[in-house]
Amino acid sequence: MQFEQKVKGLISLLVLEDNPEDVALYERRLARQSNEYQFDVTHCGTIAEAKESTKKKQHDCYVVDYKLPDGEGMDFIHHLNTITDPSNPCAILMITGQGNEEVAVEAMKSGVHDYLTKKSISEGYFVRPLLNALQRAMLSSEVDFYQRELERSNKELSDFTHTASHDLKAPVRRIIAYCEMLAEDAGGKLNEDENGMLERMKLNATRMQSLINDLLMFSMIRTEKEHPKKLNISGIIDDIREEMKDQLDEHGTEIIMDDLPEMNVYPVRLKQLFTNLFSNALKYKSEQAPIIRISCKQKDGESTLFCVEDNGLGIAKEFHEDIFEEFKRLHNQEDIEGTGLGLPICKKIISKHGGEIWVESELGQGSKFFFTLNSVSD
Ligand code: ADP
Repeated sequence: MQFEQKVKGLISLLVLEDNPEDVALYERRLARQSNEYQFDVTHCGTIAEAKESTKKKQHDCYVVDYKLPDGEGMDFIHHLNTITDPSNPCAILMITGQGNEEVAVEAMKSGVHDYLTKKSISEGYFVRPLLNALQRAMLSSEVDFYQRELERSNKELSDFTHTASHDLKAPVRRIIAYCEMLAEDAGGKLNEDENGMLERMKLNATRMQSLINDLLMFSMIRTEKEHPKKLNISGIIDDIREEMKDQLDEHGTEIIMDDLPEMNVYPVRLKQLFTNLFSNALKYKSEQAPIIRISCKQKDGESTLFCVEDNGLGIAKEFHEDIFEEFKRLHNQEDIEGTGLGLPICKKIISKHGGEIWVESELGQGSKFFFTLNSVSD
């Protein structure tokens, strides 16, 4: 229900206050605006009574005194937080004595929408803040609703991509195997054109396989449950050096690295990040032998800034943001193979570590990929 519609009807209000004079004061304030707003007031003098009342119904607004005979107003607010239905939001106002503002601010962190002093109420300040609080509560519940919807539909999409790419893996693997068998068994009987067609068939199926693998990885990163581990980042680079040895040696690649720190990271994914950046440094190399430099500096507290620099083809300024979008490629498939998912995967991995990634580069001047990494907690 919209706020405007809600305040046209009867607004149910629970007042938790043990002092009869204060109750009378609130009632006077409500009566003054009774030609505009209609309140159905339930008055409770103790937390126990108020809890009993919430068993019968959820009110639109709660006005809660800070000190009560059977406890503190906060006890009741904690209770409200546990029983409130998120699709039926309510406003909570705390009433404090003069000088209790710090307590009230603390209360706001626990779900209270606003606080009022008794002095400000006697000066006439009551119905407006109550309605403002109700409007905020309703808006924030709407935002929460759309956020949950967005998360749900993102997950649905990611699950769909995951299932589709997973199920496509086996048939494509079979197509590649049949291409190989056909080339072996019948290759000699085919003419040049036919052999060419068979080769292109295998090449395209292999491209499809890379795309499926990247799609699968892309869809998994956000939801998978990898346990963080304390690792020396230099160790990860050494592992990649070993695994990519043939490719690195083939181009005479030099890798230079700073002393890299130990951090709590998702190990498989972080390795994937560096592997993607190294592969790109090789794929998009210039005429010189590739040089990859990995440097880092502590930024603040937990966050560390890394840079993976290459001396390759470089990237024109207008594409610095686009290249992190899915399927965005600046190079033709026939010239340099790729799926356009390498950097989006890097971006997702960095975001999983609470960081950001960006590039600084000029065409023909090599590229510097910067990213921040935070140690993740278990
Ligand atoms: P892919 O390499 O599969 O095309 P990426 O997402 O890894 O996909 O990269 C997107 C595009 O950004 C690439 O197609 C390429 O044009 C450009 N690019 C990425 N890394 C580099 C680099 N180190 N040097 C120059 N261009 C790069």
